[in-house]
Amino acid sequence: MPELSESPSQPVRGLQRSEATARADLLVVDSYDVTLDLASSEETFGSLTRIGLTSHAGNTFLDLKPASVRSITLDDRELDVDQLRDGRLPLELTAGRHELVVDAVMRFRNDGEGLHRSVDPADGRHYVYGMSFMDAAPSIFACFDQPDLKAPYTFHVRAPQDWVVVGNAPASNPEPGVWELEPTQPLSTYFVTLVAGPYHLVRDEHDGIPLGLSARQSIAADLERDADELLTMTKQCFDEFHRLFDIRYPFGDYHQAFVPEFNAGAMENPGCVTFRDPLVFTSKVTRGVRIQRATTVAHEMAHQWFGNITTPRWWDDLWLNESFAEYMGVRVTAAVTEYDDAWVQNSFARRQWGLVADQRPSTHSVAGNGEEDALAALQNFDGISYAKGSSILKQLAARLGDEVFLEGVRDHLTRHRFGNATMHDLFASWTRAGAGGFDSFSREWLVTAGPDRLALDRAAGELVRTPPAAHPADRSHSLRLAVAPAGGDWSPVDVEVTGERTPVPVPDGDAVLIDPWEDSWAACLADKTTLALLPDLVTRTEDPMLRAGIWNSVRSGFHHAEVDPDAVVDLAEAWLPVETQDAGLTYTTPWLLRSAVSLSSDPESSAARLHRAALSAARAHEAGSTLQLGSMQTTVATAADEQLLRGWLAGRDLPDGLEMDLELRWRIWVRLAVLGVTDRAELDAALDEEPTAVSRVEHTRAVVSLPTVEAKEFAFERFTGAVSVANYELRAAGLGMWREGQEELLAPYVERYAAELPTAARAHSGWVQADVAEDFFPACMVSDEAMALLAPLRTSDDLPAPVRRRVTDAVDELERRRAVIARFGRA
Ligand SMILES: [Zn+2]
Repeated sequence: MPELSESPSQPVRGLQRSEATARADLLVVDSYDVTLDLASSEETFGSLTRIGLTSHAGNTFLDLKPASVRSITLDDRELDVDQLRDGRLPLELTAGRHELVVDAVMRFRNDGEGLHRSVDPADGRHYVYGMSFMDAAPSIFACFDQPDLKAPYTFHVRAPQDWVVVGNAPASNPEPGVWELEPTQPLSTYFVTLVAGPYHLVRDEHDGIPLGLSARQSIAADLERDADELLTMTKQCFDEFHRLFDIRYPFGDYHQAFVPEFNAGAMENPGCVTFRDPLVFTSKVTRGVRIQRATTVAHEMAHQWFGNITTPRWWDDLWLNESFAEYMGVRVTAAVTEYDDAWVQNSFARRQWGLVADQRPSTHSVAGNGEEDALAALQNFDGISYAKGSSILKQLAARLGDEVFLEGVRDHLTRHRFGNATMHDLFASWTRAGAGGFDSFSREWLVTAGPDRLALDRAAGELVRTPPAAHPADRSHSLRLAVAPAGGDWSPVDVEVTGERTPVPVPDGDAVLIDPWEDSWAACLADKTTLALLPDLVTRTEDPMLRAGIWNSVRSGFHHAEVDPDAVVDLAEAWLPVETQDAGLTYTTPWLLRSAVSLSSDPESSAARLHRAALSAARAHEAGSTLQLGSMQTTVATAADEQLLRGWLAGRDLPDGLEMDLELRWRIWVRLAVLGVTDRAELDAALDEEPTAVSRVEHTRAVVSLPTVEAKEFAFERFTGAVSVANYELRAAGLGMWREGQEELLAPYVERYAAELPTAARAHSGWVQADVAEDFFPACMVSDEAMALLAPLRTSDDLPAPVRRRVTDAVDELERRRAVIARFGRA
């Protein structure tokens, strides 16, 4: 058995579009038959793949990232496995049908890709799941890894006898440890999966579709507690998707597996969706977090049609998947589940994600992003492909009318059933359905990057539209203003923005919010007069979309250094006690603390003001409510009093009805660590007391937050890969180490970050690689010295393109923070 010198980690360059096109022109994959042996080792697994294919005569390559290879045969002729280089085996094919058989040994991975294997710290049980996206399928089985070579799969699995196995098709268990899966519908490689381990299962059925849920044994009770909510919304969403699309779900069972250490929120594998398992709530969470989970459930269901029945031909069209699933996910959640306020949550949680991404140096168009490299395309899974794309589709549905919008979608899904398509195919379907003026809409919103900036010129009585300098455009906006006199109520005013300046009827001295109901897509700034009125107005604003709109306009203004951090703190102090949507607290507070509070003229007293406001809200809200919990989370994050925090840990002086659970306890430990009033021994003891997966990650976050050299070294060893940990702990180490107020201690680490980033980039691969670059970025280090060290990374040849892109965006954020300081000063 030849051992290969290459590690299974990813090459710097991914599959190129031209290579994918040539391969798809050459061959058709007829079937995959995959036998996996998960029972022989904890480090590796056997992977025997038989591929049936039909080809023209020509040269191509097979994708394979093994630990070692036993044999590869093409039509019974043995191939030279030493030809395997960088995950590719050259193939010379004659015209006709062929059978390719690859007998290999693969490595289990711990970075959330390929076949990820983890040990639950709570009980020592082992769990496995497959993540083939975006280019990890060849580290599970030999394949032609591109979205437009679809084929049916038949899996055979040998697993330890106490494991259950779930995959893309229904599985039977003819004898202990042996699992046979039925042949699937034609699937793309990137959504082939397998979930295996001693998982706890919940089963149900709806409308002829067998439903399943699964999670680790140690969180079985938590899954059972939420099973009814999850299954109910799944059923409601199936009914609604069937009604909207008029096409039956075609993949047999619908299993939703909550799996450990998953990088994304979820992955839409047909028949077997995988979710990050912190979405099985082991502690009490806010309603906002529940809505996020609900829209994720609906998002993955939407993908069964958009993505799985009809799949983009290449990654430049990933918006067809993500924008669509994001839009349908929120729409259907709001329409048919108990979370009818999903659009409000979306406004608090997702709008700025999209708008900020759209204003970064890395901005790109929603559609046709032009990406030629599969690996680089991973970076386009961002706020633009999700939040902006969703907003644009919502506008399109409003313009076309819902019937035309949906008729085009049905036509598209029917024509390209189990196949691949491009955006031009979808545009053609919409045109057939009767959509007019599609070219100009596409030009203005889908294929041009960047948002317009909309601001009020109060003296002139005009709305000023400024397109991004780097991406000129002449977009019109149909939107509403919300206008309110001092002490009065908001009322809507319709505006058609065409051209640079649009006259708007605004009474002198009234507050004006631009597009708070999100009819359009733009960075909408509130002017000074409005900002001064907001702390009073927000306390009387009953429409939650307007309160979200207030925060979106303030955050957009802050991004442009047009809003004084002190004014934001004034607004937050007035708003905290009156917000009735806990999503507002959950998704606004972290930004408030990171941005406005830390850049305000007196960060300590700003935090103290918010602390008092949030604590009195936590005491005033209904006992045991999620609003009370949301307020308490803010209270903890702003606390400066060690005795108060330790009292809460001991259960003393808690607001009535508030339960101290694992998550809240760790929030307090992290805060104590930031304040430097606990130590490693105490944190270790807290971990030992309840050593769950959540505790391990939060323990890491707390340890690296301590203001000591040892703490920062602990973080850095994980950054450089000197100490190898799984992805969640790795990311917590980065996100926790840079703390405001610890600048002196942290100063040397700016230079080390810059010097060691290339090492770190080599130590990590796949999804985690660029995340690590961003998570460990010295985001709070605003000095000239820090900037001088960090800015050159934007053009460093030593960094892979995805890392350079993230760092470039992180430097942009640092520049914007420095612009706020330059404009408004700082203590
Ligand atoms: Zn998605």
